[in-house]
Amino acid sequence: MDRIVVLGGGESGVGAAVLAKVKGFDVFLSDMSTLSADYRQMLDKWKIPYEEGGHSWDKILNAKEIIKSPGIPSTAPLVAKAIEMGIPIISEIEFAGRWDKAKKICITGSNGKTTTTSLIYYMLKNVGLNVGLGGNIGRSYALQVATEHFDIYVLELSSFQLDNMYDFKADIAILLNITPDHLDRYGYDLQNYVNAKFRITQNMAADDCFIFCSDDEITIKNLNQIVIKAQMLPISQEKEVTEGAYTMGGRMHVGYAGDSYEMAVSDLTLQGKHNIYNTMAAALTGKIMNITNEGIRKALTSFTPVEHRMEKVLSVGGVLYVNDSKATNVNSTWYALECMTTPVVLILGGKDKGNDYSPLFDLVREKVRAIVCLGVDNRKIHEAFEDKVDTIVDTSSAAEAVQAASSLAVEGDTVLLSPCCASFDLFKSYEDRGRQFKEAVRNL
Ligand code: ADP
Repeated sequence: MDRIVVLGGGESGVGAAVLAKVKGFDVFLSDMSTLSADYRQMLDKWKIPYEEGGHSWDKILNAKEIIKSPGIPSTAPLVAKAIEMGIPIISEIEFAGRWDKAKKICITGSNGKTTTTSLIYYMLKNVGLNVGLGGNIGRSYALQVATEHFDIYVLELSSFQLDNMYDFKADIAILLNITPDHLDRYGYDLQNYVNAKFRITQNMAADDCFIFCSDDEITIKNLNQIVIKAQMLPISQEKEVTEGAYTMGGRMHVGYAGDSYEMAVSDLTLQGKHNIYNTMAAALTGKIMNITNEGIRKALTSFTPVEHRMEKVLSVGGVLYVNDSKATNVNSTWYALECMTTPVVLILGGKDKGNDYSPLFDLVREKVRAIVCLGVDNRKIHEAFEDKVDTIVDTSSAAEAVQAASSLAVEGDTVLLSPCCASFDLFKSYEDRGRQFKEAVRNL
């Protein structure tokens, strides 16, 4: 029996361990920190041996293959050692893909993955297809492959998952955009991150489809340097395309294999320029999947935004509070500001991932009345913006930030939590940050 060791006992690791067990491997799971009670219970139920609170190198480095959770960097000493010893290291998605015959629709990009993945899943499910949802969202893909049966999977893939994927093949791959993110994990070299994103196209054949954004500079520059066998389908808000999707004169046009779909952009439930890209990718996927125009229209006109993504919370004293806690990089905050039609009090800050704030300068000068910093170390934000807005204040909790923002905002303004940064300095996660923000707004 080959030995498989799983590093990391979160959703993806535990799922991978269960699948390995079901497939008859000698499985061992190891986590540096403590496991949650649910995952411990699941491992016990499946009789999978595990350790927590540290790694026993001797029980790990004897593996035939290691499945590494995406949160663990490849520079972690144990992982570096395994690489040096030549032990193959794969992701949960690579492993599960080996055992899954379903059609796979895979979505990556720096921003918009969860929104687009959820929208596509919603559309396919609503027309009655037997479809599963997984990857960087919801329940582990591997666990579903182990215990359920779906004809189609819609999978959100982060660059960290793509990093350790080799033979996996998507039937439809979507690359929404590439903007600098997670550079701390990529040796501060954008090209390393770009290469990870493009792994979504690896192994694709001529009858597969690759949807990409032809308005995205980094994507286009890199596409010119590689060969992709799949059918290339652009989405654009700048140029007309015959096969693919584009907008013109307030209408979205989708064309694929001689068939077409059209609708007014104003009828979409997801608003904002960024969401038009997400919607075009979803509508095009619908066409490729042979969904009727009525099925596509129904989904696009009834889907509601995912929590923490430009989520309207409440109006208090004529000030609208918007929760965009998921905006953890500069580009997503750019899109949030771009679609603001009122003056903004912007709540920014958290754990900086090597941000360059300069793309925000013009929008901040034009729309932002004041900045409320919500982070442990706010120096970079002060330095970047002190000559662009009149007021910058420091806060260190969601309640304090909301109080400060409400005293700076005037009737007709929007208070926007779109922090540009990760949340881990003050919060458990971006969800925790968003929830605390909403709670504080409700308490105003
Ligand atoms: P991801 O899963 O890639 O992080 P989400 O759908 O969760 O993407 O959205 C993350 C953040 O990016 C949110 O603030 C959202 O408003 C913004 N966003 C969504 N789609 C796009 C896009 N296509 N381009 C830029 N920003 C986007």
